[in-house]
Amino acid sequence: MDRRLISFNGRIKFMIAEKEIKELVKAATKTRKNAYAPYSEFKVGAAVLSIDGRVFSGCNVENAAYSPSVCAERIAIGNAVSQGVKKFKALAVVSENQSTPCGVCRQVIFEFVKDRGFPVLLADVKGDYKVVMLGELFPSPFELK
Ligand SMILES: [Zn+2]
Repeated sequence: MDRRLISFNGRIKFMIAEKEIKELVKAATKTRKNAYAPYSEFKVGAAVLSIDGRVFSGCNVENAAYSPSVCAERIAIGNAVSQGVKKFKALAVVSENQSTPCGVCRQVIFEFVKDRGFPVLLADVKGDYKVVMLGELFPSPFELK
């Protein structure tokens, strides 16, 4: 099977099928088209893959008051959680420049994915992507215990 090996700290942590990567990036790219970003003009789409193979997506939704704005990653995760899904296998973010999730979103991803080896796909509008691990993006998350 066509699978891509993901390693973290020298160990292979996840095996993601190339098909799953393409499906996630495609869903995030499609949802990005619905982004409401009249202030930043920076459209973002995100999609999470649940462990049972379902895809949930979201786009950024800005607000004139700025602070009520919500990122694509949080909407994608909230979309999944609202459907009763809280366990994920991978997350993709699509923007013009393969941008990384903001700090707030990194904390929200960590809330549901305690594994620092969780793969985050950073894609651009051309479909090119790179894979980073949650632990690389967010080495010291806030935890109550
Ligand atoms: Zn964010």
